[in-house]
Amino acid sequence: PPDVEQLGRATWTFLHATAAYYPEKPTPTQRANMLMLLKSLPVLYPCTWCAQDFGESIEENKPDVSGRVALSRWLCERHNEVNEKLGKERFDCAKVDERWKDGPPD
Ligand code: FAD
Repeated sequence: PPDVEQLGRATWTFLHATAAYYPEKPTPTQRANMLMLLKSLPVLYPCTWCAQDFGESIEENKPDVSGRVALSRWLCERHNEVNEKLGKERFDCAKVDERWKDGPPD
């Protein structure tokens, strides 16, 4: 089985970075592809219990692919659910762009 921690860090990095650079006004094709990317995780993610819980999470909270700000927030909240499940600290979702797009202020 994969290293669940390293796989998780790599996957969150990919997902948050992709959300951070998702267009503010995505085309229908971009929306459809983002939705497929997110919905493929419960089917394909190689940590099966992670995949199952994430599937339940996105059933209860439908992905908001309407634009980058909404998507980044939605993903931050899903990640916080996992953080909570694992006893990790919640992340301040006001800081997603600082963490994943802009870098720290000078
Ligand atoms: P990570 O949680 O990997 O976070 C990486 C970095 O992202 C952090 O250092 C921080 O800078 C930033 N960050 C933290 N929280 C947020 C947030 N809410 N929004 C934006 N940025 C944030 N592991 C399990 O043991 N059981 C599971 O069921 C499980 N389910 C998972 C489901 C998914 C879809 C994914 C992608 C991963 C899952 N993991 C699971 C892995 C787990 O979430 C962590 O990736 C892993 O434990 C390593 O944690 P970490 O402390 O290094 O930071």
